[in-house]
Amino acid sequence: MNNSGIDNQKINMTIQQALQWAKHQLIDGESAILDARILLCHVLECEPVTLMTYPEKVLTEEQESQFQHLVNLRLEGRPIAHLVGYRDFWTLRLQVSEKTLIPRPETELLVEHALELPIPAEAKVLDLGTGTGAIALSLASENPKWQVLGVDYDQEIIDLAKKNALSNDINNVSFTKSNWFSDVDEQEFDLIVSNPPYVEQDSPYLNQGDVRFEPLTALVADQDGLEDIKTIIEKSRTKINIGGWLIVEHGFQQGESVHSLFLEFGFKHVQTVKDLNDCERITKAQWC
Ligand code: GLN
Repeated sequence: MNNSGIDNQKINMTIQQALQWAKHQLIDGESAILDARILLCHVLECEPVTLMTYPEKVLTEEQESQFQHLVNLRLEGRPIAHLVGYRDFWTLRLQVSEKTLIPRPETELLVEHALELPIPAEAKVLDLGTGTGAIALSLASENPKWQVLGVDYDQEIIDLAKKNALSNDINNVSFTKSNWFSDVDEQEFDLIVSNPPYVEQDSPYLNQGDVRFEPLTALVADQDGLEDIKTIIEKSRTKINIGGWLIVEHGFQQGESVHSLFLEFGFKHVQTVKDLNDCERITKAQWC
């Protein structure tokens, strides 16, 4: 109480006020309102529908300051997935870390095309540079009879992918540390998939937005972004069954180069596919 007898206690924001405040703070971001909703749901541990249903609900002191803190981090450019600790991909909720790429919606195109391939019902599948396990886990979840192996170069990344397998209750998948093929002893894969690093070293894209907070190891490759894709295409040949398929994701201006690499290394039925933004995004080919 102050000496006028009026209670000076601060009145906390309601859900509606919190969202309006955040939208105003994040004004430059196209997705400001969406970002604000995700962050508020995270703080309130609720589903998005709650924000619509109870706009007048008052936040506690702690919720309000946690929300403001997250909005400020977002203002610095931190990716939403890092702030809430997960990203939804395909039908799965995946934990992310600063060591891995945050799964992108474009990569679901690779999953869709992999699922349509004419490969055995009990296929053996390899995901190179698995990161959070996004591709490996999506494929395994859709095909309980497939045996999927995901590899990455770092044990912490492997531990994260294993956690994601557990939390999504997926059993037909294993993860192991390997720098591309270095520790992959098995051969005879029916399908090899990869979303490797493919951004050019000097790309201005690396200095903008969320990617600034993602690991360069997952983003950048030498030789105009093509070095790892080339290694994967070349080395896959000794690991893939006759009739098996390789699919890689690549940059929107790399379709032609990747197509040529597949042909150079003797693959057949090479096909580049565009994503929903009309950008060439994946190329698939068969080893015959
Ligand atoms: N797709 C990434 C991006 O848009 C680039 C690297 C990758 O996916 N492998 O930032």
